[in-house]
Amino acid sequence: MKFGGTSMAGTERIRRVANIVRAQAARGDEVAVVVSAMAGETDRLVTFCREANPLYDPAEYDVVVASGEQVTSGLLALTLQAMGCKARSWLGWQVPIQTDDTHASARIENIDAPALIAAMQGGQIAVIPGFQGVSPHGRVTTLGRGGSDTSAVAVAAALKADRCDIYTDVDGVYTTDPRIVAKARKLRHVTYEEMLELASVGSKVLQTRSVSLAMKEKVRVQVLSSFVDEDAPGADSLPGTMIVSDEEVEGLDMERQLITGIAADKNEAKITLTRVADRPGAVASIFGPLAAASINVDMIIQNIAKDKGETDVTFTVPKADLLRTQALLEQRKEAIGYFRLISDDKVAKISVVGVGMRSHAGVAATMFKALADRGINVQAISTSEIKISVLIDEDETELAVRVLHSSYGLDAADAA
Ligand code: ADP
Ligand code: ASP
Ligand code: MG
Repeated sequence: MKFGGTSMAGTERIRRVANIVRAQAARGDEVAVVVSAMAGETDRLVTFCREANPLYDPAEYDVVVASGEQVTSGLLALTLQAMGCKARSWLGWQVPIQTDDTHASARIENIDAPALIAAMQGGQIAVIPGFQGVSPHGRVTTLGRGGSDTSAVAVAAALKADRCDIYTDVDGVYTTDPRIVAKARKLRHVTYEEMLELASVGSKVLQTRSVSLAMKEKVRVQVLSSFVDEDAPGADSLPGTMIVSDEEVEGLDMERQLITGIAADKNEAKITLTRVADRPGAVASIFGPLAAASINVDMIIQNIAKDKGETDVTFTVPKADLLRTQALLEQRKEAIGYFRLISDDKVAKISVVGVGMRSHAGVAATMFKALADRGINVQAISTSEIKISVLIDEDETELAVRVLHSSYGLDAADAA
């Protein structure tokens, strides 16, 4: 069972969580609980690091930001004990959750937890702070923002759990963010692949890494709400959204929609280099240095060369890396050989995702027409087998998501 930040925000909410955990344990299940820091706490801790030292050492940043989860894991264990349950906290280094030493975005390498398993078999509820681990050098690491989801899936895999229930502040995965589109519809099932695409293009309901890990380790993941009444159906009746395999979903949902979900991401910025020489090696000279600086390039367009053997190259990078990218490219202006660098951070990427795309034509045409009818200009396009993304003006994000949601017949009223 994993509980997110909103669910853990304060004594009263932690008591609600403890009640849900106690009820699950009372059914005779052995339970491990992974918790997030209280909502807003990690942001607060990150700010302290920046204030202390703008060029902070990631290893010390990890010491600071991992503390939010240490607090909530202790508090949940205390609350469970107050209810008469046997419970204890297991910090990352105590489990141990072994990671690599990429501080601030470490990867889990191994969880071998005989003591934790023995304690659970003895009837003790294990409470594990999410987001944190221990490096090969014995130092505290964290897994990147939103990483408690990954902690939960990794623990579930290590324990060979029957299920990994991700409790959050919405009651499942929706066709799009229900806080943006009121007509969003809850999905009973989503495939691993679809969830992976949705998470990676901006649906922050699950961290992307947690989905790829669940897919690889075949962990059964359910997303559900921790804000339910005492008499609401329990997690075992699968009230939330199950993440399932392709084969499983075929047997479950005969009438699947063509598009499963729509996501928006405002965390990218667009860069255009004008009049780049149209010769072998030109684009390599642009993207090579960015790769070396660990800057992730997402969408790329290159036009056909004009008469002078020159072309414009447009691409997107994370907003957080925009200044670094500009600096790198300006340093190499001569070597690359371009005329101007134009950047724009007022863009948004809107993506539609669905396995149905594999076998249907016209999905992209529907998207472009719906956007054109509303006068929304498409600045860049990228696709995968089950996803189409477009880059648009940031101010048109909400409108675009709503329009596409209706165009693909996803609005809740249509579905009823
Ligand atoms: P937690 O603190 O529990 O980890 P998050 O804030 O990380 O919670 O994730 C839950 C949020 O994800 C929801 O409040 C919702 O606004 C957002 N979200 C974005 N896309 C979706 C979607 N397709 N379905 C459900 N929630 C979504
Ligand atoms: N507390 C961490 C964060 O805010 C991890 C998490 O909540 O998943 O990113
Ligand atoms: Mg989260």
